[in-house]
Amino acid sequence: MTNVVEHLVKIGHIQNMTDQQILSEIIDEYQGTCQFLSDSDINWLEEHGQLAAFDEVLFECEVCGWWYEIGEQGDTDQLICESCFDEQFDE
Ligand SMILES: [Zn+2]
Repeated sequence: MTNVVEHLVKIGHIQNMTDQQILSEIIDEYQGTCQFLSDSDINWLEEHGQLAAFDEVLFECEVCGWWYEIGEQGDTDQLICESCFDEQFDE
């Protein structure tokens, strides 16, 4: 399980980083994976007002659960990735 914020605390980097830098670490860690967003990372995003910024960059596909960049949706009204979207309408 990924805990970006806990890892940054552990290695002592977090106090030298801006919220922006921490946010991009979190995004880098999840993008292209199917990991659950860990509680400590969600808490950090909430406490630092970065949850909306995170949501503007990544979305979790409702079908396969992978994290994709916004813009990679198969259907812009739904949080579904292109390959799941194609599969659904490929029958
Ligand atoms: Zn998908």
